This record gives sequence, structure tokens and C-alpha cells, in this order.
Amino acid sequence: MRAGFPEFRLGSVLATSFTATLTERQGDAVERIPTPQRLVDWLAVSGLAVDSCTPAQLGLARELRESIHAAATAAATQGALPASAVAVINDRSVQGRAAAVLTPDGKRQWRLSSASRVEDALGVIAADAISVIAGERDGRLALCASPTCRAAFFDTSQSRTRKWCDMNTCGNRQKKARFNANQRKNSGPAELPDS
Ligand SMILES: [Zn+2]
Repeated sequence: MRAGFPEFRLGSVLATSFTATLTERQGDAVERIPTPQRLVDWLAVSGLAVDSCTPAQLGLARELRESIHAAATAAATQGALPASAVAVINDRSVQGRAAAVLTPDGKRQWRLSSASRVEDALGVIAADAISVIAGERDGRLALCASPTCRAAFFDTSQSRTRKWCDMNTCGNRQKKARFNANQRKNSGPAELPDS
């Protein structure tokens, strides 16, 4: 990780890992890809390595990210998909020219048409979002219970009752808040011995 930049919140689902590059959308938002180089870094750890990124390509990436967020939020709440978000997702998917290839040890890898084609990487992310939003994958889209977050996440738990986008961040914070509230209750005046 590069010093001075917020760390990434990587999950197992590419599309929602990508939307998690902007967190705390309903609170003090944290931009985790503030520069083109940070998008290059994020793509590298996400199996979509490119060798460079222009400010314009970063702009395309953020536009796609917010479109996925809007469409996934609508899908999670059974709302109508915003037409503009659908158009952006489809454009990015159509314009990507990445190919899936099989490695000798049986893993899938993405091969971009050229190392500077951020658009190819965005196409892979858009296609991943389409499969999640269209309900093609085993899981359920849901919104994080944290009021300052409300991120759309993909719940693949057996019971489909996950409440938080990430147990280590939003889930933990909620648990701590509950613990502190209990502490306060237990040390309040009601607990003082009667005189
Ligand atoms: Zn959250």
C-alpha cells in the first residue's frame, strides 16, 4: 500500500469491491481511488493489471462505479433501475475487450487487449455488475445496515442475513457502539447503591 492514501476494502465480489472504493457515502465519504495511480493499484490487486491510467480514464471508472452503486442499490430495494446508470454500465461492458483465459493450473485470468486499456478492465467490472444485478449469481444484493455507509453488497452467506458490507469495518463499529451504549447504561445513576 502506498503511504498517505486510504487502504482498499477488497471483497470477494469484483463489482462490489469496486463500489467499495468510495466508502461512507452517507457520512464523511472516503475516496479510496483519489488519483489515477491508485486506480492502477486497485486494478492490480483485483486481477486486472494495467500499466497506466489517465485522469479521463479515472473519470470513466468513477462514473461506472457510481452507476453500479445506483443500480445495485435499486436492485437491493426492489426499485426500478435508473436508466442513466444502466446506460453507463452497458456502455462500459460493450466497450471492454478483455478475454478470459485459463491458466495451466486451472484458474481464470483476464487478458486485456493492451496494457493501457483501462476500458477493458472496466468492461470486466461492468459485466460482473450485470451478472450480480441480474440475479445470475448465487447470492442476494443487500444494503449495509450502517446509516453512514448504506453500501450495496452481495450476500453469499447460507442464511442470506448478512447485515453489514464488511464485518471488519461496519460490523465491528456497530458492535462497539452497542457495547459502549451498554457500558453507559450499566454505569448510569440507576446503578448507584441506594442511600
Ligand atoms: Zn457498510
